[in-house]
Amino acid sequence: MILACLGRIVQDTDACSIPDDDVSTISQSLDLQGTIESGGIQGVADKDFGGIYSVKPLALVKPSGTEDIARVVKAASRTSHLTVAARGNGHSINGQAMADGGLVIDMRSTEESHFKLLRIGGSSYIDVSGGALWEDVLKRCVSMFRLAPRSWTDYLGLTVGGTLSNAGVSGQAFRYGPQTSNVTELEVVTGKGEILVCSENQNSELFFGALGGLGQFCIITRARVKLQPAPDMVRWIRVVYSEFEEFARDAEFLVTRGEGESFDYVEGFVFSNSDDPINGWPSVPLDPDHEFNPAQIPQTAGSVLYCLEVALHYHHSDHTSTVDSAVIGLLERLGFARRLRFQVNVSYMEFLLRVKRVEEHARANGIWDSSHPWLNIFVSKSSIVDFDRTVFRNMLKDGVGGPMLIYPLLHSKWDDRTSVVLPEGEIFYIVALLRCVPKGPSVEKLVAQNHEIVQWCNKEGLDFKLYLPHYQSKEDWKRHFGNQWSRFVERKFSFDPMAILAPGQKIFKRSNINRN
Ligand code: FAD
Repeated sequence: MILACLGRIVQDTDACSIPDDDVSTISQSLDLQGTIESGGIQGVADKDFGGIYSVKPLALVKPSGTEDIARVVKAASRTSHLTVAARGNGHSINGQAMADGGLVIDMRSTEESHFKLLRIGGSSYIDVSGGALWEDVLKRCVSMFRLAPRSWTDYLGLTVGGTLSNAGVSGQAFRYGPQTSNVTELEVVTGKGEILVCSENQNSELFFGALGGLGQFCIITRARVKLQPAPDMVRWIRVVYSEFEEFARDAEFLVTRGEGESFDYVEGFVFSNSDDPINGWPSVPLDPDHEFNPAQIPQTAGSVLYCLEVALHYHHSDHTSTVDSAVIGLLERLGFARRLRFQVNVSYMEFLLRVKRVEEHARANGIWDSSHPWLNIFVSKSSIVDFDRTVFRNMLKDGVGGPMLIYPLLHSKWDDRTSVVLPEGEIFYIVALLRCVPKGPSVEKLVAQNHEIVQWCNKEGLDFKLYLPHYQSKEDWKRHFGNQWSRFVERKFSFDPMAILAPGQKIFKRSNINRN
């Protein structure tokens, strides 16, 4: 049922009590340009990529723009306990974009609100909607301007606001930092329903709070993203190691070298030393014509192997010999198993959209809608060897039914003023266990195994932080934020004092007292 939303606007000062569960009263108070729906929304607002949690919202709002979003938040603030969750593309794992009995805002309906190229001080930027998908930002920037954002996620079917609320990490982050280090201005709606523009110099606490802020302080409606000239082509290479120490040494060597002295993209993954089609050798080659010859695996290899994945940008105008010599110059310094090297040349767009091909394949096989009990962790360099020994080589030696990513990042490329929390030290690794399993009892076992890994990290005193964190208790959140907790709480009090926003993160409880 679509509820007509052409009712009278309730005055802002009219802090009357709207019954919390009465959608028609709420909708009448909104005067939305967009729509609000309370029926037929199952499978959208109560579902996410994780496929583990499901809670029923009161209604799904499809705003037409920022003003609509502000009206929704203000209306919620006039009730005693309504919450509001911005839903990007619902690609969270643990219900982070859901609102139990609250209002879910479908940010995708605002994706066309902003798209404008700017030149500021000789640099290029694009203003995009918080609800835009990164894949659309890529396609439009490249086709219209031959420009592209500098820092990505592996998969681009994610929204700008959704990844900026976490960090946004991929193989370019070692050079440019996460996506949160590549935006200079945001337009947001705070938990008080105010529409504000913020940047390093304007409302800076709100700006840095929003970046990596898990949606706790505001809803991002527009972001100004740094651009660079887009290359035409990418040489995409995978090389294999039997020893973790050598893999890590080479990966760290590449991420600590300057531009022009390294690849443009550096990632890595662990795979099982077996012929398992998903978890083993067949997961490495980049082309169906490439063959992984197990006879080339060093004799010393154990239960798992390591793949370093790198890429070099180039232009159509570059001679093949120039690209070849740049690649050879870099690879000859690395200690991989010489005959276990795979490479292809693909267009820049094909490279950045590589996980889209995986998605298409998974959808065709009916497994995209499986459960995904993923675990993402940042582990410091000082703890990564222990982590490899116990978790990869032992607990997960047979794989997780999907990629097990591991690659180094540099703390100095992140801004400590944002809300993201990281382990200590300059070099830390992102570890991503991208599990894919049919829905059923095995999901619970895998969630339990994720807990076991985190418990083990805690018990052994590893220096780590969860990425895309998920905790149930305030104590765990406090531990997660550590000495940043009081700053996080102060930001909450300042920008969302009634704890209306992003209830699915389960950090703060909705209050009906405005603590400001
Ligand atoms: P949602 O899941 O819809 O929302 C996430 C959180 O942000 C929720 O709390 C929500 O309320 C809040 N939110 C959403 N939009 C806004 C907004 N506009 N303003 C404020 N808060 C908002 N992450 C990486 O860093 N690197 C990767 O390579 C990567 N690859 C991925 C691949 C796949 C297949 C999937 C499913 C996820 C991947 N992720 C990756 C994780 C991704 O960054 C998170 O899922 C993130 O939440 C973005 O998803 P979304 O846009 O669907 O946001």
